[in-house]
Amino acid sequence: MGSTPATDLASDGKTDANLLETSSPKPANRGWRPAVRTVLALVALLPLLGIAVLTGISASSSWSNRQYAQQAAKDVMVLKQIAQARLEMNQAAIPMVLVASANSIGISEKIVSLLVGINLMKGPISLPYAQHLLQSNPILRTTPALKADDQANLQLDSQIEAGNGSYASATRILDHFANAIDNYWISKYEQLGSYVSKWNPPGSFETHLATLRQTYASFDAGIYSDRSAIDVLEGIGGEAPKLMLMQEVFEFQQAASQFQNSLGPKALKAWKTLNSDPHVRSTQQIINQALSLAENGGKAPYLTDEKQAGIAVRLVIFDVGDLSNLVQSAANDLVTQANHQANVAKKDFLLEIIFLLALLGFSVGGVLIVGGSLTKPLKALSGAALRIHSGDFDLEELEDRGPREVATTMEAFNVMSTTLKAVERKTVALAEEDLEHADLSNPLPGKTGQALQAAVDQLATRIKEREEQRQQLYEAATHDRLTNLLNRAAVFDYLTTNVAQRRLSGESVAVLFVDIDGLKPLNDTYGHEAGDAAIQATGEALVEATNPCDVVGRLGGDEFLSVLCHEHSQDGDAVALKMREQVSKKTIVANGKEVSLQASVGVALTECDAKTDPMELVKLADQRMYEAKRAARQAKT
Ligand code: GH3
Ligand code: MG
Repeated sequence: MGSTPATDLASDGKTDANLLETSSPKPANRGWRPAVRTVLALVALLPLLGIAVLTGISASSSWSNRQYAQQAAKDVMVLKQIAQARLEMNQAAIPMVLVASANSIGISEKIVSLLVGINLMKGPISLPYAQHLLQSNPILRTTPALKADDQANLQLDSQIEAGNGSYASATRILDHFANAIDNYWISKYEQLGSYVSKWNPPGSFETHLATLRQTYASFDAGIYSDRSAIDVLEGIGGEAPKLMLMQEVFEFQQAASQFQNSLGPKALKAWKTLNSDPHVRSTQQIINQALSLAENGGKAPYLTDEKQAGIAVRLVIFDVGDLSNLVQSAANDLVTQANHQANVAKKDFLLEIIFLLALLGFSVGGVLIVGGSLTKPLKALSGAALRIHSGDFDLEELEDRGPREVATTMEAFNVMSTTLKAVERKTVALAEEDLEHADLSNPLPGKTGQALQAAVDQLATRIKEREEQRQQLYEAATHDRLTNLLNRAAVFDYLTTNVAQRRLSGESVAVLFVDIDGLKPLNDTYGHEAGDAAIQATGEALVEATNPCDVVGRLGGDEFLSVLCHEHSQDGDAVALKMREQVSKKTIVANGKEVSLQASVGVALTECDAKTDPMELVKLADQRMYEAKRAARQAKT
């Protein structure tokens, strides 16, 4: 009979797991593959990149707006300084024109001072103060045109000081200088305007920018109309001051009507102050008087009343001062607004950068968290799969975590690994032929499990059958059919082994040889079957007379051999006696007649050593049996 696979495994001393271990291949090298986190990072990165570009554009625009606003504020400050220079220019021009006019008619500064009631030699409307104003203001030497006018002005100064001044040259040079300042202001304003059109600030900024221009126009028109009014009332300059007066008054009114409804808070306050200033009202009366004279003609009132002219000059200084204040306030409104815009742009910029960083942070965090929730369970899953791949089924159950699909896969994996573990245990139990093992009867889950269980059951049944057959063969090979005792070969085999073992420990061996008395005549008298019954009964009697640890076998015919175990080896004679007694108690029924049995027993006892030959022992016991039989026969006869 061929051996089963289980037997092969058992004989190798290996289990399925061991076999898998020796042949487990390494996972295939698949080259570079992106990890879960890399895939997620790419997925998150693309929209993030789009948002980052848009936010970046917006942030860069906010940053530019901030710079535009800051630059606009600086430029408006320059416009303020130029307007201030224009005011100082006007203040310086008054004593210069007065002294130059006096020069032309041969009157000294001192006399003019007395006539107009203004100290032209000292104080705020004096010639030295005018020179100080013009020389200390660097704005007045900013452009080549202004530098040229400054030079001309210095020449005018020396003319006046030398007493060679004249009204015509003084007004020409000073007007030219004032005009250069106006041009400088306007060029700077236009530069700012073109710059603002690029910046594109809120509409109110541009409105207030236009208002600044109009307030400057009113300031400029105010200066010229005031001076023209005094010239008209003094009766100097002919028709030119009259025309200029009308022109400048018109321009002032036009400018005022334009800015009136669009003034910023500071400019509005300055405008209200200007309108409630009594000096300004008085100046207005002077202008009205001059306008009436220009339109209707008549005698110039200040021609003979120099004092009035001086009063008018002082009033005009207040009027121009208020107008200058209006320009400065309108500029301050713009600076405030530009600074506000710069702050708004800065806030926008910071918010956009914070948004971008937060977005980046959330994206990176999201990728790490989501990636982790995927990577950890997937790593656990792939690690466990690789262990199974390498034949190691002794796995911990995978934790229930991760997204639904992963969790479902892990649950299925757990069932699969449990099944594999159970299959491994069953295989080991089969390999060890431990058919009573509880693992063999535990059913396997699922359809495949059922099929596997059926295969395992079939294999177990086959192993059991083979074992039974083997047992039967062994029984048949080692036992005597008639008595069911060990047969000749088995009992000799046992004896040989027993003697060999006892040799080592120096123990003694007792062998008993038994032969039934008179079996031949019994056969002859009652038949062979009766003889067989006698042999069987004798075998039973011998077993009854010995201990479970002793061995009894049938050598053949009516001969038996018993090997006493170590504990009883010294009891040979007693056992022999007991054997005879037990045999004599046995009877067989033949031809309706009870026939008693007898047997002769020979005992051979020896201390085991290297020379002890088991067959010699048997021979000795046989001899002693024979002697005993003969003695018994003789005793009978
Ligand atoms: P002794 O008293 O001297 O022992 O003589 P005996 O008649 O018993 O004869 P012996 O021991 O010399 O020979 C054994 C006999 O047993 C020979 C044979 O007729 C008989 N015999 C041997 N084997 C069997 C058997 O299997 N069945 C039966 N019925 N008889 C057997
Ligand atoms: Mg005999």
